[in-house]
Amino acid sequence: MSARKYEPFEQVKNTIKDTAAFMGLEEKEYISLMFPERELTVSLPIKMDDGSVCVFKGYRVQHSSLKGPCKGGIRYHEDVDLEEVKALSAWMTFKCAVVNIPYGGGKGGIEVNPRKLSDAELETLTRKYTAAILPLIGPEKDIPAPDINTNPKVMGWIMDTYSTFAGYTVPGVVTGKPIEIGGSLGRSGSTGRGVMFMTREIMHRLGKPLIGAKVAIQGFGNVGSMAARLLQNEGAKIVAVSDVSCGLYCEEGLDCNELSTYVAANGRSKLFKDYENKHLKKISNEELLQLDVNILIPAAKENQITEENANKIRASVIVEGANGPTTIEADAILQNKGVTVVPDILANAGGVIVSYFEWVQNIQSLMWEEEEINRAQEKIMIRAFNSVWDCAVKTEAPLRKGAYMVALDRLVRARRIRGQLM
Ligand code: NAD
Repeated sequence: MSARKYEPFEQVKNTIKDTAAFMGLEEKEYISLMFPERELTVSLPIKMDDGSVCVFKGYRVQHSSLKGPCKGGIRYHEDVDLEEVKALSAWMTFKCAVVNIPYGGGKGGIEVNPRKLSDAELETLTRKYTAAILPLIGPEKDIPAPDINTNPKVMGWIMDTYSTFAGYTVPGVVTGKPIEIGGSLGRSGSTGRGVMFMTREIMHRLGKPLIGAKVAIQGFGNVGSMAARLLQNEGAKIVAVSDVSCGLYCEEGLDCNELSTYVAANGRSKLFKDYENKHLKKISNEELLQLDVNILIPAAKENQITEENANKIRASVIVEGANGPTTIEADAILQNKGVTVVPDILANAGGVIVSYFEWVQNIQSLMWEEEEINRAQEKIMIRAFNSVWDCAVKTEAPLRKGAYMVALDRLVRARRIRGQLM
């Protein structure tokens, strides 16, 4: 999209440097966060259903274990590369720090389009990848979770492979598992639920009504679809949603429950471009981003709001469901336009918070009630929102900088307390 080469890890490093300068930190206090602690690249030769062999590339990056075991999802996508995984792992470090849960940041991925693989091929690939990153992961070291194109089923395969090697069942090695094998109630919808909480909080703080607010959501996967349904329940009007194939638009508001049923029923076999409904208009993802709405929720991928389209964004509030959807250059443009952005590391932290609850239940063999989990997630997220808001107001900074300041302060303090700063 952007004419300039998009280098997400460079973007994260610039954000860290910029935040540290704003806080008056010395380089020695934050320098270690400019480098991931560990990076692993693996080759995964897979025997395909037709007898041929394909070699896929996989990665696991541990950005920081300063505040606890590394934590972060696994992405299956043809755009996955080391640079992207490094950025995603660094965002996890800051995300866990901003909501103050005892984790560092990690991330993994395989360069693959899972839509082109059969279920059997996907399972073999997942098991091979798990075996290849085995030395890095474990409940006390690094705990994967779902991300784009991975789901509870994939997490189940990872847990099973890890457990086979360990010689006993280790549910705490991944989160986002099916409930039957130690998954947590509330986990599957937790990121979207958190996006709803953060949208509700920001509208409240800005004195704007959520009821009747027009919302456009890019990406209708785990995050986007849940956020859409919950915001619809709160009275917002979801006028547009999209997947990788196209967007669906309806001025009167879409029925997000019906769309979720369509997605659940068709899995990987059908996309929105195949969806037939004469009341809806098909639009492009680019058109969706530029709609005249009150709230825009990018919930697909990074690098969607760039310096090319930021000026054309008409929403006054953006809540980042995806990781890194807005480039640094676009962020500056949005700020000048007076757009309020609830940053990814806060807005989409619901998933990792409930992953944390899942891990706690696994290592203590506990089972919590869903209401208890949702309430605890809400409490943590509102507390984090308030500390970010207060920091931003106090320093007259945008919310993204506020969030990075809250997180960086905690990370630097951890380094100091651990004696890593002479
Ligand atoms: P998903 O695979 O369930 O859904 C992704 C959605 O985005 C799908 O509808 C897909 O068709 C669409 N999409 C993919 N590429 C696109 C493109 N180029 N343009 C437009 N749409 C595109 O993934 P998810 O788990 O919902 O993750 C979405 C985003 O949220 C990612 O940035 C992810 O890192 C982030 N995130 C996810 C979680 C989680 O718990 N799943 C937690 C935090 C952040």
